[in-house]
Amino acid sequence: MVPARPLVDPYRRTVRDLRVSVTDRCNLRCAYCMPADGLAWLPRSEILTFEEIERVARVCVERFGFDGIRITGGEPTVRAHLPVLVAKLAALGVDLSMTTNGVTLAGMAAELRRAGLGRVNVSLDSLRPDRFAALTRRDELPAVIEGIDAAVAVAEPAGRAAPPPAGSATATVPATSAWWRASPAASATPATGSGSRPTASSATACSPCGRPISGPCCAVEAPTTTWRPPSRPRSGASGPATASATSTSSARPAA
Ligand code: SF4
Repeated sequence: MVPARPLVDPYRRTVRDLRVSVTDRCNLRCAYCMPADGLAWLPRSEILTFEEIERVARVCVERFGFDGIRITGGEPTVRAHLPVLVAKLAALGVDLSMTTNGVTLAGMAAELRRAGLGRVNVSLDSLRPDRFAALTRRDELPAVIEGIDAAVAVAEPAGRAAPPPAGSATATVPATSAWWRASPAASATPATGSGSRPTASSATACSPCGRPISGPCCAVEAPTTTWRPPSRPRSGASGPATASATSTSSARPAA
């Protein structure tokens, strides 16, 4: 195999991270990102297959020494069979992470973790239900909070803060959902009407999967548990440069 050689950008930063957008679709409709009715989604033929994404990633890792891959979208969890792709990329031995809006994370966290996902970032604009619904046009904040809980629940011990010293009481971290429900922010009721999530009786098929939007969107299998892994040691990093090998032509922000 040809030895890896670094990929250096015009500012002399070594590029080590690959960002892969696996879909242009999303189960939210953030006002700063897309229209309320969504967009004209790319046809399936325009989206890279899992095998094509793996091939690009392998070139980046083996030829250019990349050591990190981030999965994004749109909302990556609405891509059917996402854990299959996660397993393929995890096999490359990189720091594998995902950015998600968290809406379907509770139903997928364990499977994604088992497939090899190492870290997750949850984009969350507000802890106030009314503000969240106004920004995202969906009343999904409780689902996001549960998704964070699910991620933390399957965290490996190594990913948690330092263990309590011997002889001390076992530290317990309250579930995010319990903390949030007890906070003043949770009592801000989302507005009903045009800004909130539509009901199942009113035009609510999920655009990726066609299921009622009240259920998990394109989630593959039900979960059981998940994680919050350790931060990656970055020896020799010379800058924050990141390659963006987007599998779609979308230029919208990631979830
Ligand atoms: S900003 Fe992210 S979560 Fe919001 S609609 Fe766009 S892709 Fe979806």
